[in-house]
Amino acid sequence: MEKKKIVAILLVLAMMLTFTACTGGKETPAAEGGDAPTYKVAMEPTFPPFDTIDEETQELAGFDVDLMNAIAEDQGFKLEWVNMGFDGLIPALEAGNIDIIASGMNASEERREKVDFSTTYYDSGLVVAVKAGNTDIKSIDDLTPDMKVGGQIGTTGADLATELFETGKIGEAKIYNGLDVAIMDLQNGAIAALINDLPVTKSYMDSKPGAIEIVGDVLNAEAYGFAVKKGNTELLDKINAGMQNMIDNGTFDEIYKKWFE
Ligand code: GLN
Repeated sequence: MEKKKIVAILLVLAMMLTFTACTGGKETPAAEGGDAPTYKVAMEPTFPPFDTIDEETQELAGFDVDLMNAIAEDQGFKLEWVNMGFDGLIPALEAGNIDIIASGMNASEERREKVDFSTTYYDSGLVVAVKAGNTDIKSIDDLTPDMKVGGQIGTTGADLATELFETGKIGEAKIYNGLDVAIMDLQNGAIAALINDLPVTKSYMDSKPGAIEIVGDVLNAEAYGFAVKKGNTELLDKINAGMQNMIDNGTFDEIYKKWFE
């Protein structure tokens, strides 16, 4: 009798376990990874401290990665990070090959015609950088028609360099795929100046002390936002809600401190 009872109890337990195992997937809330959708998010990784590659792990890293990952966790979606040229980001979003751009992208009016931007999360601006010790160039006004000036492809810095070339102010606008190579060219004198975002140029200065310096004033006002395909309000609402939650619960400040202090 006693044995039969135990067998019966074990059978019931086994059935309960099987039942739980079968329904477990369906009942796990999305926030725990159950039916969590996966979005493809892209960045160009020569833009520290926003978008870079961790030297040890060789994984994509930076302020944008940490902030977007925190938003995804809060909003119950998963991310697959991909790396591409900056000029390829908007076309990839328009074509539906990626879902999100998280790449220190200025939410300009021109880009807003093609994609939708989240609430902006960082105020930035362009600056001119020169090789350390250059005494000829003290601001953008000192650039001359015998000079080559660099910018990164698809960026507002490249737009400005191109404009300076087209108006005859400089001799050539040299457009780079990655900022790492542009910084090297600035150091070795292949270009006289580089037009790039202030926080990123500062980051390169910190990692190579005494190599390059910033001259003159900040040239414009930019603000970075995450971008989604035009009309994808469902995803944009999640990103904005998650961003607000990260600001309210202090995670945004923590991430900011990690990368900027
Ligand atoms: N300010 C630039 C832009 O949005 C820089 C972007 C970048 O290189 N990641 O065009």
